[in-house]
Amino acid sequence: MELSFLGAARQVTGSMYLLETQSKFRILIDCGLNYEKDVTRESNAEFPFDPSSIDAVLLTHAHIDHSGNLPTLFGQGFEGRVFCTEPTSALIDILLSDSANIESKRVNKKRKRKQPTRRLFGHKQVMDVIDNVVTINFEKPFELCQGVMVEFIPAGHILGAASIKISVTEKGKTKTLGFTGDLGKSDAKVVVAPTPMTGLDYLVMEATYGARLHKEERSAEETLASYIKDTCIDQPGRLIIPAFSVGRTQAILFAINNLFRSGDIKPIRVFTDSPLGINSGNIHDKYIGYLNKEARDFVQEYRDLFRFPHLDIVEDKEDEEDMQRYYEPNIIVSSAGMLEGGRIQRHIANNIQNPQCNILIAGYCTPGTLGAKLLEGQKEIRVNKHERTVYARISRTDVFSAHPDQKGLTQYFKQVQNNSNLQRVFLSHGEVEGLEALKASLQPDFQEIEIPYVNESYSL
Ligand SMILES: [Zn+2]
Repeated sequence: MELSFLGAARQVTGSMYLLETQSKFRILIDCGLNYEKDVTRESNAEFPFDPSSIDAVLLTHAHIDHSGNLPTLFGQGFEGRVFCTEPTSALIDILLSDSANIESKRVNKKRKRKQPTRRLFGHKQVMDVIDNVVTINFEKPFELCQGVMVEFIPAGHILGAASIKISVTEKGKTKTLGFTGDLGKSDAKVVVAPTPMTGLDYLVMEATYGARLHKEERSAEETLASYIKDTCIDQPGRLIIPAFSVGRTQAILFAINNLFRSGDIKPIRVFTDSPLGINSGNIHDKYIGYLNKEARDFVQEYRDLFRFPHLDIVEDKEDEEDMQRYYEPNIIVSSAGMLEGGRIQRHIANNIQNPQCNILIAGYCTPGTLGAKLLEGQKEIRVNKHERTVYARISRTDVFSAHPDQKGLTQYFKQVQNNSNLQRVFLSHGEVEGLEALKASLQPDFQEIEIPYVNESYSL
């Protein structure tokens, strides 16, 4: 068989791998949008293969950098099925629909300016994806085609996220590959801890935080409490937490809910204005059985994970104006996480010159994004078409990170290694610095580590 690295090779976005068996069965693992700074959105339409030649897609999880190019694949002739877990199926329904709206706006803007452009996909192609999903249970191996067995293993990270184990039997010999997909932290809020795969010959492993050691020793609640006390208690401060709609928004709202219920923090108003975040929260409520024990126990006792008396859901312009005029201490949780696009841009533009505002960045920011610029300490920024000087405080926490750090990745690897007969490991889904650092961390125990380039193929 042959394994090709078609995306997220030496970068984080655009996850896509192609596995072709000797009998020419072609499996795509993930089909994500590539949104690196130096890449045009249109270039996602250029697949390095004929989409109609692909037999099946296995999808690790719903994030757009893993699922976002599926509608384009259908638009260009793919006629197979997309295999994923049931929560992932529910999440891609809302995420891809939102992505189609963003695509429409982008294309209309370009056309208005008479700039040449190409529509990647529309709602019809999103419907094609949803209509062709086959949902798979965790830890129930199934035969994808003759000689190919597939198993989805819990990866943590976000609701429904899976690592995927593929066993291919060729000429009487079976080889097993494991794709970690994006992994979660073992002590994550809301979602389960990842289950390390076993019995592998080859491992394709993510390395988003391969160079990083998370600093937090405190729990999510303790960390959040210290920022709330520091910014909002006894002073009219505003704590703004940019957060992705799926996963991080829920983890943050759950931690705030916990803090208010326990009485550790006097409740203050919390605004959340991500419609996608609310829909995503409803999907978490529906698939409660997939969440971790802490979340399931909390639901037994208090019913609602993400809704509490002091939560204001910002639905329209009036709600937003009401929020802007609110001068008592408050918290805003808004998307998107890296501060690129979404409603967070308006909050940053309105509050970045307020010294009593604290912007708490709670996750990975790709170089070049506004989030990365603020973390670098840039004092003059451009946001929502305005030039602004930064007077707000900028803080950072790793406690809500959806990915393990170098230590967590290394521990995960050791557990796989102890229960496998590994021949080779491929590191992907990371900046070069992170990939090299993780390689160095694993190498004392294991030598056969590759860091593939995009479009590089390996015979296994
Ligand atoms: Zn992800």
